[in-house]
Amino acid sequence: EVSPVIATVDPATGRTVKTFEELGAAEIEDKIARSYERAKSYRHTTFAERARWLNAAADLLDAEVDEVAAMMTTEMGKTLASARAEVAKSANGIRFYAEHAESFLADEPADAAKVGAELAYAAYQPLGVVLAVMPWNYPLWQAVRFAAPALMAGNTGLLKHASNVPQSALYLEDVLRRAGFPDGCFTTLLISSKQVEPVLRDPRVAAATLTGSEPAGRAVAAVCGDEVKHTVLELGGSDPFLVLPSADIGRAAEVAVTARVQNNGQSCIAAKRFIVHTDVYDAFAERFVARMRELTVGDPFDAGTQVGPLATEQGRAEVEELVADAVAAGATVLCGGKPLSGPGWFYPPTVITDITPAMRIHQEELFGPVASLYRAGSLDEAIELANATAFGLGASAWTSDAGERARLIAELEAGQVFINGMTASYPELPFGGVKRSGTGRELAAHGIREFCNVKTVWVG
Ligand code: NAP
Repeated sequence: EVSPVIATVDPATGRTVKTFEELGAAEIEDKIARSYERAKSYRHTTFAERARWLNAAADLLDAEVDEVAAMMTTEMGKTLASARAEVAKSANGIRFYAEHAESFLADEPADAAKVGAELAYAAYQPLGVVLAVMPWNYPLWQAVRFAAPALMAGNTGLLKHASNVPQSALYLEDVLRRAGFPDGCFTTLLISSKQVEPVLRDPRVAAATLTGSEPAGRAVAAVCGDEVKHTVLELGGSDPFLVLPSADIGRAAEVAVTARVQNNGQSCIAAKRFIVHTDVYDAFAERFVARMRELTVGDPFDAGTQVGPLATEQGRAEVEELVADAVAAGATVLCGGKPLSGPGWFYPPTVITDITPAMRIHQEELFGPVASLYRAGSLDEAIELANATAFGLGASAWTSDAGERARLIAELEAGQVFINGMTASYPELPFGGVKRSGTGRELAAHGIREFCNVKTVWVG
């Protein structure tokens, strides 16, 4: 049996729950045309109107948390508790932009006399239709992180969501419409990744944002480069988690577990490489491995479950491959290391050590609950190891030494550094990466300005 491209497949059972038809060319054309037409009038709505609609959407999310969370758990296997937390986080992000967009996009006056004008300023104006290509790992939050600022800035949005979360994709379109946004403001396109290029090349589409893997980002950015269209790219990561001798080792080991296994190990900003100073290595490793072993893996709908299945069969196969490659080259498995038998795509919390640069796990992103554990002889070595990756998304470092803290903040090659805490996203803080982890920023004022024409105004 050939499975359709766009479908809800329950990762806990492997069962296909619902399938969807990809849109045809005429339907895509119709949806782009409506989005483009709507953008012409929507840009003239006030911040107050947009905020009213967004706040109504946040209220609907709160009211519908039970069904939305269950839908996400069925589509991609995150625990029901984390799905509920994602709904709350999304409502919070929506309210944040509803409240702050107007001040983030206020005109920025310049010194008019210096430029020979009576009046000179920078204005933030909408670009028009923006396409978002989004991943399944946070099916609601990732899309909201785009939709809320894009809509507050006066753009209309098109969403091409990952093929395994079609119900989440349709829900977001629906909830924004029910909240009051006029038809065409936010449109889900049920299309495969092969159908993305013509949308990107459509002259009515002004810009694009992609959250996903590096290959997907490269593909979308290449087309947008060719079309000279702005892109924001939030790509993969292989975040380091550094533990230095002055740290609270017990606390670091406890948070390390959450930082690795959150979202069943499938978060771009999950800590993936644990780099521990030799003086505290044994103490950290013992606690960390013991806690990883104790985690309850199982049905994501069960309240006692801490780690659910991986989202896709392919995703689990990739985890298996990376672990097998490391083991074949001499790595040591301290716990886990083999997929669980039975239905569903379960993989246990795993810790691997004795990793060498020749192993794939040393360079590639591991998207599952598998931690790489490294020993560093000094702070210098720890920073060097942390930076010895093509990625640069987040970094977490644990120390109570002010001098070390200053060096870590200055020298870690990452879009965000968290000291004595795990990397997380907050609407109040910009979010994004350097190196192969992407370009541009989401969230905070930086995120909403990405999809604006920063127009210089000079009046003589
Ligand atoms: P993915 O396979 O790259 O898919 C992401 C999105 O891109 C999906 O909608 C996918 O559609 C689409 N896509 C894939 N190839 C494409 C192409 N050649 N042209 C156009 N669109 C394409 O990633 P994923 O497996 O869903 O998500 C995991 C990855 O996302 C990880 O690398 C993770 O680190 C990264 N991520 C990054 C962030 C961040 O903020 N930096 C946040 C979350 C996740 P289909 O589903 O139809 O293939």
